[in-house]
Amino acid sequence: KDRLVEVKHLKKYFNVRSGVLKAVDDVSFDICRGETLGLVGESGCGKTTCGRTLLGIYEATGGDVFFEGNNTSTMNKQLKKDFKRNAQIIFQDPYASLNPRMTVSDIIAEGMDIHGLYMHKERQERIYEMLNLVSLNKEHAGRFPHEFSGGQRQRIGIARALAINPKFIVCDEPISALDVSIQAQIVNLLIKLQGELNLTYLFIAHDLSMVKHISDRVGVMYLGCLIELATSAELYKNPLHPYTQALLSAIPIPDPEAEKNKQRVVLEGDIPSPINPEPGCRFRSRCRYAKAVCSEKRPELKEVGPGHFVSCHLY
Ligand code: SF4
Repeated sequence: KDRLVEVKHLKKYFNVRSGVLKAVDDVSFDICRGETLGLVGESGCGKTTCGRTLLGIYEATGGDVFFEGNNTSTMNKQLKKDFKRNAQIIFQDPYASLNPRMTVSDIIAEGMDIHGLYMHKERQERIYEMLNLVSLNKEHAGRFPHEFSGGQRQRIGIARALAINPKFIVCDEPISALDVSIQAQIVNLLIKLQGELNLTYLFIAHDLSMVKHISDRVGVMYLGCLIELATSAELYKNPLHPYTQALLSAIPIPDPEAEKNKQRVVLEGDIPSPINPEPGCRFRSRCRYAKAVCSEKRPELKEVGPGHFVSCHLY
C-alpha cells in the first residue's frame, strides 16, 4: 500500500486548571494516496485536535507523523517547507476562516505569495483558474467575503487550499456550518476535485451519513481514542464497537419499514470529561456491556477481520 500519511501513537495533551486534558491520547492510523479517511465522533472527542496536530498546527505531546515516509518532526528545512505546502486544511466555519478585509483574489493568493509560487503574470491566471475549479468566476475575484453565501465562502476556502497544489487536505468539518441543501454540493465538489487532482483527504465530521458518502474508510473517535476503523461499507454493515453501533442506530433509514424494525441503541448520559480520564475503557460509563476488565485495562485497537480494527474487550 502506498501510504501518504502515517500517524503513530499521536498524543496531544493540554494543561488546564483542573489537570491534563487528553484531547488525543495514543491514536494511530494510515492514509493511503488518493484515499479519503473519514474521522467521526461527537464534539469533544478529539477529531479536530487530531487533524490539527498531524498538520503541525498544534505541537504534538507525543507520537510521530510521517508524510511520504519522512518523520515530520525531524524533517530538514526543505522537506518541512514541502510538507507545509503539500498538507492543507479546509476549516469548518467559512464565516470565521476568511479575512473580511481581504478580497477573494488576495485570500486565494495568500499561500502562493508565502511559498513564492505563481508569481507576476501567472498569479492572476492562477486565481481565475482556482475560481473556475470551484465553480465561481472572474467577477468574484475583487469582492469581499461578506458578499457571498456560506456555500460560496466554503468554495473560496477550498480554492485557497488548492492554489498551492497540495497532495493532502484535512477537511475539518467543512459542511457542518452549512445548510443541509448546500452540504451535498460541497461534498460532491470535494469528490470531483479529488478525482481531478489526485488528492488525499482526512474528512472530519460528526454527520455519519455524509461521511459514508465520501469516505473509503472511516475511523470512529471517542474521548481522545480511536475506537474502531474499517472500510466505509464494512463499518456501516457490521459495526462492532458498542459506541459505533449507537452512533449508527441514530441515523434514520429512508425505508419506513426498515426504520420501524431497526434496533435503536440509545446512549445514556453525556460524553465524560477528557480531563484526567480514568484508566480502562473510556466508553464504559455509557456502555451496557461493561465488565470488570473494562475499568482496569484500556482495550487495544485490534484487527478482528481483514482491515477491521476495534478497541473493545468484547473482541
Ligand atoms: Fe464496553 Fe468494555 Fe467494550 Fe469498553 S471495552 S466498549 S466498556 S465492553
